[in-house]
Amino acid sequence: MSNARATVLVVEDEPEIRRFLRAALGVEGYRVVESATGRRGCIDAGTHKPDLAIVDLALPDLDGVDVIRRIREWSPMPIIVLSARIQERAKIEALDAGADDYVTKPFGVGELLARVRAALRHAVRPASGVSRLCFGDAMIDLEHRRASRAGEDVHLTPIEFRLLATLARHAGMVVTHRELLTQVWGPPHAADTHYLRIYMKQLRDKLERDPVRPAHLVTETGIGYRLVTDE
Ligand code: CA
Repeated sequence: MSNARATVLVVEDEPEIRRFLRAALGVEGYRVVESATGRRGCIDAGTHKPDLAIVDLALPDLDGVDVIRRIREWSPMPIIVLSARIQERAKIEALDAGADDYVTKPFGVGELLARVRAALRHAVRPASGVSRLCFGDAMIDLEHRRASRAGEDVHLTPIEFRLLATLARHAGMVVTHRELLTQVWGPPHAADTHYLRIYMKQLRDKLERDPVRPAHLVTETGIGYRLVTDE
């Protein structure tokens, strides 16, 4: 894929983590630009025009969330946040500020690369261009508003379909509760997370092989949901 030549900006003050990321991304053929501070990262984002940025939330000068805000002022490039487990609030703040996904430290190479691939796919393929997605034995056709499981048509209500379509447009990436509620039910319902629990259960019952242990319509505790598709 064309991803192999993509440039990835890494904004991270810890040299060991930068080294780990450089090695992991380098093996996959990505070009890596490293910034050790938030300010440097903002400048490098402008001069190197990366295809994707990985931004640590705990930086010595700027807050990682501020780095995201500054990049978002002029660029829609996908941004993946690196966060520690204790930074739950900051993680949600970062996603609301425009980050596309996150990885929690310590993370494995496989997880990181999967996030990077999903984010780059999302960037190169305009939202409206995604029409068919497969996961497990389910298939959804966004253009014709149809879903099937094991070859059998599945009836989805309009709300279920909108919820699934919102997750599908961000396939492989986390979508926050706020984002889902705003997209599906509208801004006045941005805090009604119980809607999501009800409708996600319905979608799992209809589309997952084992709805109790969902493999594709995945919960990101305290943050949102993720549709894990077949790559
Ligand atoms: Ca750090």
